[in-house]
Amino acid sequence: MKIIMLGAPGAGKGTQAKMIAEKYGIPHISTGDIFRANIKNGTELGKEAKTYMDKGLLVPDELTVKLLLDRVAQKDCGNGYVLDGFPRTIPQAEVLDKALSGLGDRIDYAINVDVPDENIINRMSGRRACLSCGATYHLVHIPPKKEGICDNCGQPLVLRDDDKPETVKNRLQVYHEQTQPLIDFYTAKGVLKTVDGTQDMQDVFAAITAILD
Ligand code: ADP
Ligand code: AMP
Repeated sequence: MKIIMLGAPGAGKGTQAKMIAEKYGIPHISTGDIFRANIKNGTELGKEAKTYMDKGLLVPDELTVKLLLDRVAQKDCGNGYVLDGFPRTIPQAEVLDKALSGLGDRIDYAINVDVPDENIINRMSGRRACLSCGATYHLVHIPPKKEGICDNCGQPLVLRDDDKPETVKNRLQVYHEQTQPLIDFYTAKGVLKTVDGTQDMQDVFAAITAILD
């Protein structure tokens, strides 16, 4: 099963993608996590990506597409995957589509986690991330067991540089301009499913599994 998560930054794509990956036994692939791992390890790719990410801009397609196509060609993707944060532009979606159709394959579901802009600023300012294992929490809605510490790996939680309110505004604008058109793209392919992302995390997940099961 090949799944794409769509939605504004902070809509809950990563939170749901992790749950989907666990339930269906497929890898969760987040281009944002891959970039953050590169930043943490001080790679050239990380240094370049950071200049865009910190401004709330998209990393250029030339850097992003190859990285994603290499990742989905790996062995663990044989039974499918859930993509979180890719594609984010029409050209990215077209490249993925072409690569898949070359293999006689296609995306099965594009799940649009729908959350209005008004809720997004609150989601992002309360988000706390573990840069070690990629786990995500929310100070109010999904708190860790021990304040400031990741439940999974015990590392400290941080407010991402790009989750500061001034950057979030840019990211929302970029989302509406460059990523939202993907809703029409996947509707035209007959694979778009929209869920109400303002519900409790478990209710959002129930709506998604009702589609996938
Ligand atoms: P995205 O991957 O779309 O950027 P995340 O999954 O990281 O979004 O979620 C953004 C923030 O909102 C995180 O702090 C997360 O813990 C929180 N969150 C996710 N889903 C819900 C939900 N259904 N209700 C409340 N908060 C949520
Ligand atoms: P995310 O973790 O999905 O919120 O992504 C964080 C940031 O990484 C985004 O704001 C972009 O700067 C960059 N990024 C992640 N995925 C992509 C992508 N598919 N295309 C371009 N930039 C991306």
